[in-house]
Amino acid sequence: MMRNVAIIGAGQAGLQLALGLQASGYGVTLVSDRTPEQLLSGRIMSTQALFHDACTTERQLGLNFWEDACPPVEGIALSVPHPELPGQKALAFSARLDQPAYSVDQRLKFAGWLREFQTRGGNVVLESADIQTAERLSSAHDLTLIATGKGELGQLFARDPERSPYSAPQRHLALMYLKNVAPRPDHSAVSFNLIPGVGEVFLLPGLTVAEGGGTQPYENVFIEAIPGGPLDVFAEVRDPRQHLEMMQELLRQFLPWEYERTQHAELTDTQATLTGRVTPGVRRPVATLPSGREVLGLGDTLVLNDPLTGQGAGSAAKAAAIYLERILWHGDRSFDRVWMTGTFDEYWSYARFVTDWTNALLGPPPPHVLEVLGAAQTRPGVAHAFVNGFNHPPQFFPWLGDPQAAAQFVAQHGVAEHRAAGFTRA
Ligand SMILES: Cc1cc2nc3c(=O)[nH]c(=O)nc-3n(C[C@H](O)[C@H](O)[C@H](O)COP(=O)(O)OP(=O)(O)OC[C@H]3O[C@@H](n4cnc5c(N)ncnc54)[C@H](O)[C@@H]3O)c2cc1C
Repeated sequence: MMRNVAIIGAGQAGLQLALGLQASGYGVTLVSDRTPEQLLSGRIMSTQALFHDACTTERQLGLNFWEDACPPVEGIALSVPHPELPGQKALAFSARLDQPAYSVDQRLKFAGWLREFQTRGGNVVLESADIQTAERLSSAHDLTLIATGKGELGQLFARDPERSPYSAPQRHLALMYLKNVAPRPDHSAVSFNLIPGVGEVFLLPGLTVAEGGGTQPYENVFIEAIPGGPLDVFAEVRDPRQHLEMMQELLRQFLPWEYERTQHAELTDTQATLTGRVTPGVRRPVATLPSGREVLGLGDTLVLNDPLTGQGAGSAAKAAAIYLERILWHGDRSFDRVWMTGTFDEYWSYARFVTDWTNALLGPPPPHVLEVLGAAQTRPGVAHAFVNGFNHPPQFFPWLGDPQAAAQFVAQHGVAEHRAAGFTRA
C-alpha cells in the first residue's frame, strides 16, 4: 500500500525530501507558504553555498538543475586585516577545494523544485501553516514532518538547553547580491574576511534570478556584525541604494582589497538586500500535538546555526538525504517516536560537529587555533586541509578543541603539499 507523508515547509530540506519520496512512489503532501512566482519575485534569503558532499545529495536525486549555469566556487581564502597597518593583512592564505561548491539563489532553487514537484503530480497546499494544519495533516498521513526553518512553527519543538549555549543572536546580518564585482585574481572563492572584535565579511559567487526571467551570475557581500560594533549599522536601512553605499564605505574602511573589487558594483535586483539575526539553537526532534499525535522536525527547525560557517543549507540537504534513506528503509512499519528519535540521532551524529565548530567560531579563537591558521600561511598542506574541512566539518575535530591535536594536525599536514594549488602567502 502506498505510504503518505506530509511535509510542512518547502525549503532546502522539505523540497529535497518531498522530491526524493515522490521519486520512490510515496504520496507526498507539501505545504508551501509561497507560490513559485512569489518566491522568484521575493527577497533574497541566504548565501546558500553548498559544498561538495551536500551537492552530491542533490545530484543523486537529479535535482542539480542549475549546476552548468552556476559559477563554481573553487576555493576558500581567509584574510585578517592588520590592526595597525591600514590596507595590510595580518594573516592570509587560500587553497582550492577538491571539488567546487555552488551557490544557487534559493529563490531560483525553491521555485524550480516546487514547480518540478507539482509537474510530477505532487500535492502542494499553499498555506502559512499553524498547529491546526499540523493536526489536520498528521491525522491523514503516515508521517508528518515540520521543515519550516527559522519559522515560528518550529517552536512546537522544545529547545535543548544542553546543545544550545546561546539565548540571543551573536551576529547581526546584512546581505546583498551584486553584479559588476571584479573576480579574485587566482581562482574563485569564498573570500572569508575575519575582523577581530568587529565581525566577518564574506564574498562568494553564485547564480541568481535575472530581471525579466532567466538567470545571471552574481557575487554576494555578506556582513556578520558583532552586535553594537562598527559593522552593525544596517538594521534600520530600508533603501537598497543606501545599503549598497554603506557596505562599500565599510569595505573601503576595513577591507580595501574587497572595496577594490566592489567599487563599481550594482545590486542585481530590487529584492537583493536582506538584514536579520539568528539565535542559534538545537531543539528536541519530536513534538506532540494537542491531539497526542507526534511530528518530526527537519533541517533548521531542529538545528539552527549562525550562518557564519555557511553550513545550514548543506546540513539541511544532508538531513533530507538521511531522512529519505531511513523512511524508505523503514518500509510499512509505523513511524513511532523511537524511529523519529533514531532518525534525528543519525543526523545529529554529523550535525553536532557543524554546531560545535560554528559556535566555536562565534567567539575569539584560542591560541592553538591561531597557530593552525598561522601555519596555513606557510604550509600549503595545512591550508588545503583547513579549507576542505568546510565540506565535512567533522574534520575540524579533535584539533579545534585540543591544543595537542592541533599541533599533530599541523605536523600531519605540514609536509603534504599535494593538491594545494592556489595557495598564497600574506
Ligand atoms: C544570511 C544567510 C546566509 C546563509 N548562508 C549560507 C551558506 O552560505 N551556506 C549554507 O549552507 N547555508 C547558509 N545559510 C543557511 C541556510 O539558508 C539555511 O540553513 C537553509 O535554507 C535551511 O533549510 P531548511 O529547509 O531547514 O529551511 P528553509 O530553507 O528556510 O525552508 C523553510 C521554508 O519553510 C517556509 N515556512 C516557514 N514557516 C512556514 C509556515 N508556517 N507554513 C509554511 N511554510 C513555512 C519558509 O518560507 C521556507 O520556504 C544562510 C542563512 C542566512 C540567513
